[in-house]
Amino acid sequence: MPTKISEHFSLEELTFSQTAARDGINNRPGPQEIAALRELCSNILQPLRSAVGHPLTVSSGYRSPRLNRAIGGSETSQHMEGRAADLVCFNMSAKKLFKRVIELKLPFDQLIYEGGKQSIWVHVSFDASKDRRMIMLASFPEGGGVKYQNVSRKAALAW
Ligand SMILES: [Zn+2]
Repeated sequence: MPTKISEHFSLEELTFSQTAARDGINNRPGPQEIAALRELCSNILQPLRSAVGHPLTVSSGYRSPRLNRAIGGSETSQHMEGRAADLVCFNMSAKKLFKRVIELKLPFDQLIYEGGKQSIWVHVSFDASKDRRMIMLASFPEGGGVKYQNVSRKAALAW
């Protein structure tokens, strides 16, 4: 039985990783990270899921430091604290989902539209102690790496 942490989200889907499963990387969160995942769900993921009315798929939630290194995540990634999730919704575009998070005035710390060539997803984090409401567009240039561009709430909604 999955461990529910909100109406529509389980601990398992927020910690599952194909890379971790394939390479035998331990990706079990500790009590502090589980508490952060619960906060992420109650403040962001569940309200978003309820408003959207469609399933949200978590492509990456908690990442142990080893998993984060293995997939080339940022060294300061909030995924390692259990404070961030990457989302896709098969019923709407990532762009629309990204805008919904802003329209709903959800209390995110960082919201990033991550649009690569092969996959597109929405990264969202919650941290009550930071609460920066940063909105960014990420792109993945030909030569590798990631480029982040800060955008205002207004510009993001008009984009
Ligand atoms: Zn992410």
